[in-house]
Amino acid sequence: MSAKSYSEVVDEIRSRLDILDVVQSRVVLKKRGANYWGCCPFHNEKTPSFCVSPQKGIFKCFGCGEGGDAITFLMKINNESFTEVIKDLALQFGIELPSVKGDTKQFTEEKQQIKDLLKKAGDYFYSNLFSSPEVKNAMEYLQKRGITKDIIDEYKLGYSLKGYTELQKHFKSEYIPQIMEKAGLTVKSEKGEDIDRFRGRIMIPIRDEAGNIIAFGARAVETAQNPKYLNSPDTVLYNKSRILYGIDKAKSKMIEDDFVVIMEGYFDVISAQAAGLKNAVASCGTALTVDHVKLIAKYSKSRKIYLAFDTDAAGLKATQRSTDVIKEAFTGLGNLKIFDQNYSSLSDDKYTCEIRVVAPFDSKDPDEYIREYGIEEYKKYIKNAPLLLDFELSQILKDYNPDFSPTDKLKLVKKIMPLIEEIPNNLIQNEYIKLISDKIDVDESALIREVNRSKMFKTVDKQSTKKFIKLVSNRCKFFRYQLLARKYKRY
Ligand SMILES: [Zn+2]
Repeated sequence: MSAKSYSEVVDEIRSRLDILDVVQSRVVLKKRGANYWGCCPFHNEKTPSFCVSPQKGIFKCFGCGEGGDAITFLMKINNESFTEVIKDLALQFGIELPSVKGDTKQFTEEKQQIKDLLKKAGDYFYSNLFSSPEVKNAMEYLQKRGITKDIIDEYKLGYSLKGYTELQKHFKSEYIPQIMEKAGLTVKSEKGEDIDRFRGRIMIPIRDEAGNIIAFGARAVETAQNPKYLNSPDTVLYNKSRILYGIDKAKSKMIEDDFVVIMEGYFDVISAQAAGLKNAVASCGTALTVDHVKLIAKYSKSRKIYLAFDTDAAGLKATQRSTDVIKEAFTGLGNLKIFDQNYSSLSDDKYTCEIRVVAPFDSKDPDEYIREYGIEEYKKYIKNAPLLLDFELSQILKDYNPDFSPTDKLKLVKKIMPLIEEIPNNLIQNEYIKLISDKIDVDESALIREVNRSKMFKTVDKQSTKKFIKLVSNRCKFFRYQLLARKYKRY
């Protein structure tokens, strides 16, 4: 087989590149006619003027004028030269690239070395799990979490030995210390010596979209070990705010089912995927980011996102934070389906995204829940998961009890008001108001007046902060009087 010339390789890369695939990793796009539209990544905008034509294989921004093909896009977005982009793509596609005159190959070679090293490290950690006498605790832990041998094999789970230089000894003849460090596998000790980063831990390989190991998550097995989870640092291959754990296995199911379930931890995803819920992913030791949402949008056309974090206080916070991030990612692209639109006859595709919250009743994380009740029960929960607004309302309203004083009710109403205001459709807004007024025994018309007044504030408050504060305090007073009046009317 004769080796290909540089230009032949470039042609092959061009033919394999899909502009939509390339752009959608970095921009959320929405189909309109034959083209796709999104907010331009090269200039700041809130309404989309950035257009991708899959037929022509090009992008064009009508705001700032940037345009070109998939390679131009990668050059601009990564701030890289043509040869750098080609090198990266060749590596990604597994195509051997002939060297060109005056070309510094070092960077790509290093990436390739790191990629090889991580793969071999994965094999090594995996083999430890079956050959080392010190894995007793690790095995017990895996058994406790219902991780079978089949799952260990499929996810290539492993174990890092307790010694300080075990991994380095293993790879001594193959890799130089700098590559080990750049792969995130070693760190400098206080004395300045190289020591293994992961010691005495269950090793969970983190893979890119194509399934290559790019990093590790490592779970402590001894009670005294800190932190509980230790992750690889960001490297030339791994950026934790861009990759989602489980995406390699989830992506085809995400396309097929058109939804994704975002969970909190590695083992939640492993449990769910192994039990048959393949479209589960998790962020790796970081909060959800806008880039994560872009990755999801690439695979789920209607962006149905199910948030399945733990149901404790920290989990609820994560749900709230993730929601804000999702909303930010879809800015300017249309409405988000966060509340029930049964009352309207509008078609589904008018939404940019749909957010639902999966929160089983007894505060269990997905992994615990699936192990106790089975995947079918969990799938039922997903199917009936409330939309974001309904979930948020139920969270606030569950604190209500009939003995609430007018002041307590006022506090509750204040929490609810911002949620109600988010509903753009008046009819649906009124339905929600009716529901809430029944539930907390507050006059419906008073609630409607509150919402209307609050809308008015939004336009007035730009004038001056002082004026705004005064208005708010008057509003609160007014509402308190109404509640008091209502209470006394009853006696
Ligand atoms: Zn632009």
